[in-house]
Amino acid sequence: MFENGVSQYDKGKIMVDVYFPAGKAICQWCPYCKNEDSLKRHKCMITGEYLVFPFLRRGFQCPIVMESEES
Ligand code: SF4
Repeated sequence: MFENGVSQYDKGKIMVDVYFPAGKAICQWCPYCKNEDSLKRHKCMITGEYLVFPFLRRGFQCPIVMESEES
């Protein structure tokens, strides 16, 4: 279909609500956190980041802005 590659892209964006258990806004509870069992690691399915501390915090490249953090 793209034998000669793609020379230009059209860009789109989405805004999606993500819900965490109260006080637990960390990767562990995010629907976009994938546990790669065989490799013993977690990966963000949005950014592609391998998550170093999925049970402690959100990823360093996490795009989620919590309503409680907005000002
Ligand atoms: S980095 Fe953010 S979007 Fe990605 S899995 Fe963690 S909480 Fe979810």
